[in-house]
Amino acid sequence: MTTFTVVNPATAQPVTDVVMATAEETDALIERAHDAFPAWRDVAPGERARLLRSFASVVDAHLDELADLEVRNAGHTLGNARWEAGNVRDVLNYYSAAPERLFGRQIPVPGGIDVTFHEPLGVVGIIVPWNFPMPIAGWGFGPALAAGNTVVLKPAELTPLTAIRLGELALEAGLPEGVLTVIPGKGSIVGERFVTHPLVRKVCFTGSTEVGKQIMRGCADQVKRVTLELGGKSANIVFADADIAKAAATAPYAVFDNAGQDCCARSRILVQRSAYDEFLGRLETSVKALKVIDPSDPDSEMGPLVSAKQKESVLGYLDGVETAFTGTAPASDGFWVPPTVVLADDPAMPIWREEVFGPVVAVMAFDDEEEAVRLANDTEYGLSGSIFTRDVSRALRVARAVESGNLSVNSHSAVRYWTPFGGYKQSGLGRELGPDAPAAFTEEKNVFIAQEVAQEEEREQP
Ligand code: NAP
Ligand code: MG
Repeated sequence: MTTFTVVNPATAQPVTDVVMATAEETDALIERAHDAFPAWRDVAPGERARLLRSFASVVDAHLDELADLEVRNAGHTLGNARWEAGNVRDVLNYYSAAPERLFGRQIPVPGGIDVTFHEPLGVVGIIVPWNFPMPIAGWGFGPALAAGNTVVLKPAELTPLTAIRLGELALEAGLPEGVLTVIPGKGSIVGERFVTHPLVRKVCFTGSTEVGKQIMRGCADQVKRVTLELGGKSANIVFADADIAKAAATAPYAVFDNAGQDCCARSRILVQRSAYDEFLGRLETSVKALKVIDPSDPDSEMGPLVSAKQKESVLGYLDGVETAFTGTAPASDGFWVPPTVVLADDPAMPIWREEVFGPVVAVMAFDDEEEAVRLANDTEYGLSGSIFTRDVSRALRVARAVESGNLSVNSHSAVRYWTPFGGYKQSGLGRELGPDAPAAFTEEKNVFIAQEVAQEEEREQP
């Protein structure tokens, strides 16, 4: 029996041991999910909706417990962890409205009627990273279950505790055994079986671009459906005509939230040259004021990194790089790195190009709109970004020109579950959330019904 010791990132102390599934156990659970599929698919839409609402209310009743688990397992601030547990509840409630609304279409054809159906795929495999264990799990299983699929879910090795608890709460809420199965284990074992096992019909993966590419290659073998949410290196573009005080006050939250371990982190700040000095001065004030303290303190605004390995990786990016200024961090044990600001003058710098996934932001000056867009797009990624300007025409032009899936103007809006989310370029494939998410967990079937039994075979030539 292999176990993994979960460690509290704020203290580096062990929390608990979790048993990791073997490949054989994974196969057995995938088969159980497959056996549970026909009955779940055939649950009447209104009843499936009721079960999802019941799941949402059981999650709501355990919000504090789930949040507390995430603070200890992932080092998330209490405020964030409460939002994350609430997000699972909200996503379930939102998609609980989907079962009765999975409409097909009726398309005019001669000699009969033509109708389409959205049919569930079967078993869906969801692979979750450690940075947002609860929301990313919910963004997958909410719409997948609503569309009538059964789900097997692999949490990240580092952060399995909330997922395991959500699996228990699903049963408590009345979801039948096998409908949502949480399988803790290694990516190379459990995650790999989701890719190779023929009974898993779709894989939803969130994580590194490198592993995402492997998964896509693996899925190609069975033409398995795949959704990928990968890395980012998003730009926060601040024009000189913007409210510079507000842009500088909010910029730290757009990159240092969750200690920068956020695929949407605005980890590149582009500032128009005429506002550069003022912005940087104000940014220093707001970065130094950030409350980087014990994440279980309700006032905490930033906690530690998830692991010693992640801390080492982030510090590696700062090796030999001159920092402009930093915020504070506790000197205690745990995987702490202070919020760090680096000035970049060359787009070839690794700190400007690579996803650091830690509390590090690079700032660069630009001269005009054309240069800002060019620099923002000079990346293989395209997940999110922000634009600060008071000029509405410019805001529209730049929002349309930046190659990225999720942009906000004069704000750094977080992901909203009722709007689509996903990446351009190497940030991903497909979209999650929003009104169309359940359709991504279905096949569209087209059926023609003849009005009279055909006298002779009449076939359209392809
Ligand atoms: P990762 O290796 O891509 O892991 C993400 C998930 O995939 C985990 O559940 C992991 O399991 C699983 N996995 C790993 N190898 C697999 C394989 N061969 N087949 C199937 N599943 C597999 O990410 P990471 O190593 O945790 O983080 C590395 C970097 O990825 C970060 O520094 C960051 O740049 C990026 N990242 C991005 C996001 C995002 O939201 N876009 C999230 C996390 C990380 P294990 O936990 O067992 O390895
Ligand atoms: Mg990895």
